[in-house]
Amino acid sequence: MKTIDDLAVAGKRVLVRADLNVPLEGGRVADDGRIRASLPTLTALTSRGAKVIVCAHLGRPKGKPDPRYSLAPVAARLGELLGRPVKLAADTVGPSAHAEVAALRRGGLVMLENLRFNEGETSSDEEDRGLFADQLAELADEYVADGFGAMHRKHASVYDVALRLPCAAGYLVLAEVAGLGRLTGDIQRPYVVVLGGAKVADKFSAIASLITTADQILVGGTMAFPFLAAKGYKVGTSRLEAGQADIAAGYLEQAARTGTEIVLPSDVIVAAEPAPDSPHQVVAADAIPEHQAGLDIGPESAAAFAAAIRPAGTVFWNGPMGVFELPAFAGGTTAVARALTGSDAFTVIGGGDTGAAIRALGFTDAMFGYVSTGGGASLEFIQGKTLPGLAALEES
Ligand code: ADP
Ligand code: MG
Repeated sequence: MKTIDDLAVAGKRVLVRADLNVPLEGGRVADDGRIRASLPTLTALTSRGAKVIVCAHLGRPKGKPDPRYSLAPVAARLGELLGRPVKLAADTVGPSAHAEVAALRRGGLVMLENLRFNEGETSSDEEDRGLFADQLAELADEYVADGFGAMHRKHASVYDVALRLPCAAGYLVLAEVAGLGRLTGDIQRPYVVVLGGAKVADKFSAIASLITTADQILVGGTMAFPFLAAKGYKVGTSRLEAGQADIAAGYLEQAARTGTEIVLPSDVIVAAEPAPDSPHQVVAADAIPEHQAGLDIGPESAAAFAAAIRPAGTVFWNGPMGVFELPAFAGGTTAVARALTGSDAFTVIGGGDTGAAIRALGFTDAMFGYVSTGGGASLEFIQGKTLPGLAALEES
């Protein structure tokens, strides 16, 4: 794979696809982990005299401009970290982007607005995506892929643009491939996988493959409810989508056949809603009240998960165990993080929110073996799947 060290960038317009999809709170960046992870590539390019055009997405706007998803807070934070203001174009490939790029000098940097303000970015139609990729490619002479967390998406800025410009991998992508690569070869056993978080639909299919590689899979977060429902338990108003319980039942059968242990929460913390002042209580996993939602794993489950993690040789963890953003529902996530730091295992954390969670709860990245910026991307990578973004780099 070609890296940015192989590119002659001085005086060139370099389009950098970064992953700056960070959590916001009150219009400010709540966790800047992904922005910090993008700095080595951006500073290397500017110091080598490139004209840097940063592009990224934020959240899931519906293919048209939506001020709630503006990258403005991200540009502001990037400016603070770089020690100089970062200009944000008012559009992605429109007149503002063209004007800002034309005004760039060597060593300058500009950010484009949220890529997902354009329908073509995420379109499944090759032609739509191609048209948007053409427009992006027009802005630049070279392309650098550094948005690892989005590389499992066949999106215009991730895949199609890489086929249209001379391209190379940035430093974050190289670090991710090296760090996560340690989970694709010979793994020190027992191999314990901890799964949680909220993006169940996106991540569910990973379980089939993880069952074949992991010795134990500990399931918390929203991910637990399809499994609890599959066991016939009522889950109240906990998040659960139609059809997921049946799929979970299939995974439980598959795990029983292969001898992989799927460990589910035995207790959960429930409340009427995820609010800071919601009255909450611990209930057994098979006794969730009808009008309550499970918002964290309970203390007994947290202890059981920690006991499974302690003797592990390798741990991969994706997805918070509960709504860690609220102290009342952060106990499970804290317990798992503490167990990882107390274990001799090689520990890998994946996921934008999982990384943000450990930092918000007072842990640092250095306490773990490797902290990936990718959630879905890291899950796909460790399954040995080909990420479209990486494939494009290799193809071109
Ligand atoms: P990641 O970004 O690490 O891949 P996700 O995006 O899948 O993780 O999920 C993170 C979100 O999951 C957090 O915002 C957290 O509040 C939410 N979450 C975890 N457990 C629950 C739960 N039981 N109910 C609702 N939301 C939950
Ligand atoms: Mg997330």
